[in-house]
Amino acid sequence: MGCELCEGEGGSILWRDDFCRVVRPVVPEYPGLLRVILRRHVAEMTDLAPAERRRLMETVFACEQALRSLFRPDKVNLASLGNQVPHLHWHVIARHRDDAHFPNPIWSPGLRTAAPSPAVSDQALREALERVLGVKAA
Ligand SMILES: [Zn+2]
Repeated sequence: MGCELCEGEGGSILWRDDFCRVVRPVVPEYPGLLRVILRRHVAEMTDLAPAERRRLMETVFACEQALRSLFRPDKVNLASLGNQVPHLHWHVIARHRDDAHFPNPIWSPGLRTAAPSPAVSDQALREALERVLGVKAA
């Protein structure tokens, strides 16, 4: 059975190393949504060795920092669900009080038309990630 995160990138790649990648999927209402995707097919955090868990979370926190600096969100959401794609990945989402779903999860029914978000380029996000994680983008 195919896995979309093994077979595809899952969005435009902002950063990667030999362990994981950071991608930005195209979600018009949420330009401040990043995904951190493990490079191997594993379902749960506890399938990873302790050092790997820390390494993955450090990448998640780097995304959080990059989003905070560029989007000035009211809140950052971190989510690891994997019910539909059981391949370990984290969603890191910049949330604003006037976004389409706040205060509910972005996957819930929409509450309003989202206010325009700040335009942040892939390049700006890439540079913010590289400041925290080092230049490893391929
Ligand atoms: Zn997979």
